Amino acid sequence: MKELIRFYEQLDRKLFIDGTKEFADMNSALHIECGQTTPTPTTVMFMTKMLELDKSCKVLEIGTGSGYNAAFLAEFSKELFTVEIIPKLMEKARNRLQRLGYTNIRYKTGDGGEGWPEYAPYDRIVVTASAEHEPVNLLEQLKPKGILISPAHNETGRQDLVMYCKDGKKIETYRIRGVRFVPMTRK
Ligand code: SAH
Repeated sequence: MKELIRFYEQLDRKLFIDGTKEFADMNSALHIECGQTTPTPTTVMFMTKMLELDKSCKVLEIGTGSGYNAAFLAEFSKELFTVEIIPKLMEKARNRLQRLGYTNIRYKTGDGGEGWPEYAPYDRIVVTASAEHEPVNLLEQLKPKGILISPAHNETGRQDLVMYCKDGKKIETYRIRGVRFVPMTRK
């Protein structure tokens, strides 16, 4: 946890935001380009902690957005595969992450709803846009002891953060209430 907090302290969130940077240091979600938002830094830290990453992990992220969350994932894992549907956002995020020196990231512009089967299976998968249904395709791309984290709609129409832990073919689900991510878009 200390390592994670140290990383958070030294990573300048302003680098991930164009335009007004006045709120970048605050723990709030922020608008990025193309009508998208980047989550609160504590949400990113919490999600990173939940993933129990180590330097042997191959990680898939759906929704690169600003690239801020991707920096955490690349920092604490072996390799990150990140998918973003909006080309302009991907280009900006890639430039930011390359400038920061990350060489362990592969980028794909396209619909991440189907995951990235070419490089599957993954030790960890994190989805940062919220889907209506269970991430069945993504769970298939998860290794037998893998962890997947995704926002999911609940019966009240709000979103919960859900952690799926695979144990062989069995999947344990943990629901953590109260997140608000942008909806997942389809091609
Ligand atoms: N992880 C990002 C969060 C960005 S918000 C960050 O740290 O800033 C969610 C992102 O998911 C948006 O950029 C949106 O364009 C992207 N997205 C939405 N639907 C998607 C899909 N089907 N495939 C890939 N990316 C998607």
